Amino acid sequence: MAEKVGFIGLGIMGRPMAENLIGAGHELVLYNRTREKAEELAGDNATVAGSPREVAEQSDIIITMLPDSPQVEEVLAGEGGVLEGLREGALIVDMSTISPVVTKELAEEAGERGASMLDAPVSGGDIGAIEGTLSIMVGGEEADFERAKSLFEAMGKTITHVGESGAGQVVKAANQIVVALTIEAVSEALVLGSKAGVSPAKILDVLGGGLAGNKVMEAKREKMLGHSFDPGFRIELHHKDLGIALAAGREYGVALPVTAVVDQMLETLKAKGRGDRDHSALLTLIEDSSGHEIGDGG
Ligand code: NAD
Repeated sequence: MAEKVGFIGLGIMGRPMAENLIGAGHELVLYNRTREKAEELAGDNATVAGSPREVAEQSDIIITMLPDSPQVEEVLAGEGGVLEGLREGALIVDMSTISPVVTKELAEEAGERGASMLDAPVSGGDIGAIEGTLSIMVGGEEADFERAKSLFEAMGKTITHVGESGAGQVVKAANQIVVALTIEAVSEALVLGSKAGVSPAKILDVLGGGLAGNKVMEAKREKMLGHSFDPGFRIELHHKDLGIALAAGREYGVALPVTAVVDQMLETLKAKGRGDRDHSALLTLIEDSSGHEIGDGG
């Protein structure tokens, strides 16, 4: 018999992911802090529960898609949380981006209750969530990965078991370092070129064809050249992710000097009131510092 799936956290990412699971024929039990968001999805194959504990009582596999470590801790281990209602043999799949250290602690707690947990953060953004083409990086036991695979396949395309508990979050932190530092580098290149009198569009065209070419230049081209920074992925969430990366660096004794600088740049953007802008708005900080705004590149 198909396993019943609980889904907690129906935001920008969680909602389309849950919709794709329903579309693939899975039976869901939904919970969101704002109840209406869950009710909007209710139907033949989806019911709404009153608390994370109730979700766990009714589910074999419980997926969470929440902002950060404190929310995942609250929803899993807090009062009325998932752990209180967990069935013997249940599987928790946390797809949020959180601290690998917190993930491991929660996986141990789940294990003590006869259940297990995977960390399965994603990349690919809201578009990937809507289209069901997310990259999913999974940490935990192989058997649990196999058990959840058909669910992952309904939400993503590149699905990789990367190691033991916490490994998924470590890979996601690595991903977020590369994306943030790349956006920063592209921003410096655009402002330098533009202030020196070269068209920023031409800079992207030329750099895109060589070793400097990267997906940030493609995916963020219109936002950066057009100064249209609606998210997408918000600066405040990326700042959260670099905080996770820096904390992991400290935990494992790894120096992340440039990550620390870009983390401070995102902090500055938040203080300037731009935390809700797309992360490609890092460009605006380099522009501020240089007294020059790039044009649309004509
Ligand atoms: P979001 O803020 O849109 O959604 C979070 C959802 O969790 C909201 O519906 C909120 O009501 C709910 N929630 C918050 N606290 C809760 C609580 N205590 N109990 C129950 N529900 C609660 O965020 P999002 O953009 O969907 O991101 C979710 C996760 O996915 C984050 O960890 C983020 O870093 C990661 N992520 C986001 C993107 C993206 O492009 N947005 C891409 C990859 C990964």
